[in-house]
Amino acid sequence: MNNNLEQSMFEEFSNACRKAGLKITPQRLAVYQCLAKSKEHPSAESVYQQVKKVYPNISLDTVNRTLVTLAKVGLAFTVEGSGDAKRFDANFDGHQHFKCLKCKKIVDFYYEPFKDIELPEKLRRKFEVVRKTFYLEGYCKDCKRE
Ligand SMILES: [Zn+2]
Ligand SMILES: [Zn+2]
Repeated sequence: MNNNLEQSMFEEFSNACRKAGLKITPQRLAVYQCLAKSKEHPSAESVYQQVKKVYPNISLDTVNRTLVTLAKVGLAFTVEGSGDAKRFDANFDGHQHFKCLKCKKIVDFYYEPFKDIELPEKLRRKFEVVRKTFYLEGYCKDCKRE
């Protein structure tokens, strides 16, 4: 991770906190950084395992609440999907997700036509859509059934 990226990550974080009237604490920043650097779409538990190494006193509950707060102030979002622990993402680059049902891996993919897909008139009248995403579920290469 280069310093510029680190710097812009911090700026984004502090701007969003300031706007939301949220105090910038080292723990909050650590949770955000852990999520923003990860490509794994981690659960609260796995963010906790990482952050604990630096802040041994932090609790899973605090990490969980911090992630929910980050989502509320627009720094993160939860990845769609059901059945398992909530998974988080801090990458707002319009992308789509594939989730493996066996190893629970969530992989980003980018497919332009999915980004620009037109909604039918009926839906557009009914809802104000602010984010569109595609979510695929199945088996990854390693888990593909014979
Ligand atoms: Zn898999
Ligand atoms: Zn993602």
